[in-house]
Order: sequence, then C-alpha cells, then structure tokens
Amino acid sequence: MEKLALNGGTPVRNNKITYGKQWIDQDDINAVVTTLQSDFLTCGPKITELEQALCTYTGAKYAVAVSNGTAALHLACLAAGVGPGDEVITTPITFAASANCALYCGAKPVFADINPETYNIDPASVREKITERTKAIVAVDFTGQPVEVEEIRKICDEFNLVFIEDAAHSIGSKYNGAQVGSLADMTTFSFHPVKTVTGGEGGAILTSNEEYFKKLSLFRTHGITKVPSEMLEEPEGIWYYEQQELGYNYRITDFQAALITSQMSKLDRFVARRKEIVARYNEAFAELPEIIIQKEISRADTCRHLYIIQLDLEKLTCTRREFFDALAAENVQPQVMYIPVYWFPYYQKLGYERGLCPKAEYVYSRIMCIPLYPKMTDQDVADVIHAVKKVVENYRK
Ligand SMILES: *Cc1c(COP(=O)(O)O)cnc(C)c1O
Repeated sequence: MEKLALNGGTPVRNNKITYGKQWIDQDDINAVVTTLQSDFLTCGPKITELEQALCTYTGAKYAVAVSNGTAALHLACLAAGVGPGDEVITTPITFAASANCALYCGAKPVFADINPETYNIDPASVREKITERTKAIVAVDFTGQPVEVEEIRKICDEFNLVFIEDAAHSIGSKYNGAQVGSLADMTTFSFHPVKTVTGGEGGAILTSNEEYFKKLSLFRTHGITKVPSEMLEEPEGIWYYEQQELGYNYRITDFQAALITSQMSKLDRFVARRKEIVARYNEAFAELPEIIIQKEISRADTCRHLYIIQLDLEKLTCTRREFFDALAAENVQPQVMYIPVYWFPYYQKLGYERGLCPKAEYVYSRIMCIPLYPKMTDQDVADVIHAVKKVVENYRK
C-alpha cells in the first residue's frame, strides 16, 4: 500500500489542484479589450448581446444581466413580490445567497429537507413546509443537476407560488430535453469564476414572463425608467426620467458582459468536457464501496459543476476531516459544499435550530467536492482518482 503524504509518503502530485477554476483564452481577453476601447463601459450594446445569447441558448424569452448571482436572486424575489411576512422555501445545502435573498426582502427563509441520494430539495418536504405565508420556492440545482422540476411546478401551481430556480450551478444542463433557464418562472445564473461560464463577477435572471421581465429591469437600475411609454407622469421634456420603485444599482459592465458572451460560445465544449470527467470519476469510484456517488435522475441531462464524493464512514476507519486532510496532503484539494445554511451563527441568531433538516445534516457530514473543471488534463483527472483510491485504501476497514 502507498504511504499517505499525510504520514510522510510522497504526494500523488507536486502542485496542488483545486475544486474549480476558470478557463480564459486569448479570444476572451480580446473581447474584453475591444469593449474597453469602445464607447460604452456600461449600459451599452454588449449587455444586450449577452442577454440575447442567454435567451438563444436557454430558450427563455427574456434575460436580465446583473452584477452577480446574488443580485439576480434578490431581484427575482422582488419581482415575485416577496415582502415582509412572506415565507420562501429553499434548501439548506446551498450557498447562503439562496436563503439570504428572502431576508433581503424582509421575508423568512424556510428550509425543506433534501433527497439524500440526489442531494436536491425533496418535493415531499417542500409540501410539508408550505403555509399560508409561502410566496415562492427557491429551488437550487445543486452541483448542476436540475431539481425535480415537474413536481415543484405542480406544487407551485397548486399553492400559487412563484418557482425561482437558482441555477448558479446548472447552466448547460437540461431537464426533459429543455435547457435550464426555460423551466421555472424565473431562473438565476451566476458568472463567478468557479461557475461553468464566467465574467469575473456577473449574474442573470431568465424568464418568459413579460411582467417579471419589466420589474426585473426596473429594479436593476434604481427603480428608474427612461422609457416615455412606461412613465406614470407626463414627461416634462426629453431629459425626464422617473423613479417608480426603490430599486438598486445591480448593473453589470459591458466588458464583463463581453467576457461572458465570449464564454457562452464555448459552453457546449465546457459541458462535453465536464461530462467526460464525470463519467471517468463515476467509473473509477464504482469500484470503491467506501465512496457513494450522487444519484442522477433520469429526466435530467446534467452538466456537473461540482463532483461530490460521499464517504460511507461505516466502511472507513477515518473521519470526514481526516479523509479531507489526507486528500489535501496528496495535493488534491477538496472543498466541502455546503454547510447547512441555518447552521451559521447569523441564522442561529434568527432562531433556526440544528436538527431542522436531518437528511441534509447527515449528507453534509459525509461529503466533499473533488476537482472538476473543463481545463483539467487527463493526467489531472487520473491524479485525482489515484489520490482518492490511495486515501480509501489506507483507511479501509
Ligand atoms: C455562486 C452561487 C450563488 C451566488 O452567486 P454570486 O455570483 O457569487 O453572487 C448563488 N447560489 C448558488 C447555489 C451559488 O453557487
């Protein structure tokens, strides 16, 4: 057996590989530089171009590009009419922003439990959490796998709720053959560098509902409109603009939009490479009874953003922490995503208690992400598999 690097052995690789990383080529750089040399750094044509590219790719009617994925979630909640006294149901196994967006609107995030095999929000648990105050569901496509869209759609129709899909992980994925972005009432994307398509920072909301689209556009720019036909008062002159709501400055710049549009043209390539790596991991880990891999639902065609390994701790002599540290010492740096949101001190202060979603907490205590991004070489992929096998073999019962 190979000696673990943690115990003084030789690491599987010399340089560290992390869980996610962007892929920027010269043509992406050129797109940014060209925009910097143009007349518009913000509010210009590159933003419209990006919004069109997002609509074309996803099949949604409208796209509103914004400064980041968190702003996208906030605007989606505002457009859905979420306000003080309302409740918004989401999953605890997500980035904090999926729940914070309800708090921004004065509403209460309510956590539904997950399906312990797919790790996505469990529609049955969503049903149990619905009250008269429930206004919306923020369903997160965790790791890129679409949620159970049909079941959630049914619940939303039955209880008159707005279906918001947090698709920060799932751009490029499909459900029943339809692209993510065309499925929910509103779908939000993030273009942070660890996500599949990046602009450094950036986000977008997709919708096919004109009313939501108008609200999203208004809230993105301070609640101010410059369109005469939409004004509530008679314009005094052509300089007149009008604030109608308390909105925000959630605009994205044109040079970020240019970068994202350039990246969008490579999305299918990124998707194909991610799938290739996932297939290799799945095949390798199928031989390891100590590693449980994420279940895929048959209706989903997933572009995986994160690759999760779940440890069957009953078959191992180590803790999750020890496994994590051993893998990191091999220079394959894992990450744990996510800590249940309501465990954070801020949420504890609000009165949320541990134990609220037992399945989510169970899964959290056994998972970690291993590196997955399109720029990984075949050697990188082989190193990750080698390192996982090495650690498993050392801790096998
Ligand atoms: C990244 C992420 C966000 C937030 O996106 P930002 O662009 O970083 O603001 C929201 N939800 C999930 C699930 C994410 O992974």
